[in-house]
Amino acid sequence: MPITANNPNLKTWLPTSKHTDFPIQNIPFGVFLTRDDIVTIGTRIGDTAIDLGALHQLGYFEGIPLTDDIFLQDSLNDFISDGKKTWRLVRNRIADIFDATNPALKNNTAHRNIVLFTLDEIEMQLPVNVGDYTDFYSSKEHATNIGKMFRDPEHALLPNWLHMPVAYHGRSSSIIPSGIPIHRPQGQKLINGTDTPIFGPSRSVDFELEMAFITTDANLLGEPIPVDEAEDYIFGMVLFNDWSARDIQKWEYVPLGPFLGKSFASSMSPWIVTLDALEPYRVASPSPTKEQLPYLQSHGKKSFDIQLEVAIQPENHSETIVCRSNFKYLYWNMSQQLAHHTINGCPVNSGDLMGSGTISGKTPDTYGSMLELSWKGEKPVQLTTGGSRKFIEDNDTVIIRGHCQKNGIRIGFGEVSTKLLPVFKK
Ligand code: MN
Repeated sequence: MPITANNPNLKTWLPTSKHTDFPIQNIPFGVFLTRDDIVTIGTRIGDTAIDLGALHQLGYFEGIPLTDDIFLQDSLNDFISDGKKTWRLVRNRIADIFDATNPALKNNTAHRNIVLFTLDEIEMQLPVNVGDYTDFYSSKEHATNIGKMFRDPEHALLPNWLHMPVAYHGRSSSIIPSGIPIHRPQGQKLINGTDTPIFGPSRSVDFELEMAFITTDANLLGEPIPVDEAEDYIFGMVLFNDWSARDIQKWEYVPLGPFLGKSFASSMSPWIVTLDALEPYRVASPSPTKEQLPYLQSHGKKSFDIQLEVAIQPENHSETIVCRSNFKYLYWNMSQQLAHHTINGCPVNSGDLMGSGTISGKTPDTYGSMLELSWKGEKPVQLTTGGSRKFIEDNDTVIIRGHCQKNGIRIGFGEVSTKLLPVFKK
């Protein structure tokens, strides 16, 4: 089925600016609370939010097999369960409804008043009910930097790293949408040169520049997903800040991996950009430097050229961009991650979230965490408004943005913005 929504010549009758992340070719999916306190599934074109629940009730999705309440939900899980064909039909129909040459909704003031919202009339929610969250570790540059810092610079990558997309199982209960502040976590830390841990606030709270993909129901217990079919089960992608407390992480992570140093919060951008919308921005992953087992060998362009940036904004000051990276730098792609995740027969469900791992490039300005940017605090990062940062300080806001750009069309993700508050006090 063709993806007519991606037609670069489409123009919309809604007002959009030239530099918007959300032209009519994007059509992401999200969940929002309306001015009447109603939760609905929606999309966005320019700075207009569109209530898909209302559009469906008014008959605009006629001919597409959808249940009556599919968009009147507080999560996208059921819609995602409907599968790729339905996502594509709905996205194509939305593009048609808002096409400049289609007068149906454009000329119906009563319907427009029900369906359209300005951004200040809505409140974005978490778009999916995340059942399981897995975080990969798929940037070779990031894994190498961490290995150099904490282990042996000569053997920075552990022996398994080039053979499989390494991951850990994260915690879905602390995944939050953009705009929700978090508190600095407390925990156990071992101070350098001592042998007894102390308890207190983390002194090295960090961001991790990541993206994440959301899956649909993919397989039954025992049934692996072949690497070349994996993309059929990926609904779309978001920006993802996998908050980390490096001092807590460093003391606790042996031998079972990250735990409380990671599980206090992970923030995601609220609009899920579909894999269909990203189609024009496909690129090949970096060539493998070691032969991969057949179940991990992926073919064709399975990565995406997505420009990423991270900004730190101290309270009452303007922001400083501290990192510019790109999703395409990742050594292991999403198809390989999903094939590996299910090779043992582990089922993946609608709304599961898979983080990419910190996305670092080759040069220091592309490193995707403060740990790397400040090289574990040895080289503080200068802010343009004065001062510097080794890690994130109280009342700093961390903002991740991302977009694709090609042939004059920009498909963006908006942003994920999270403020770090001081330690929680009752
Ligand atoms: Mn992570």
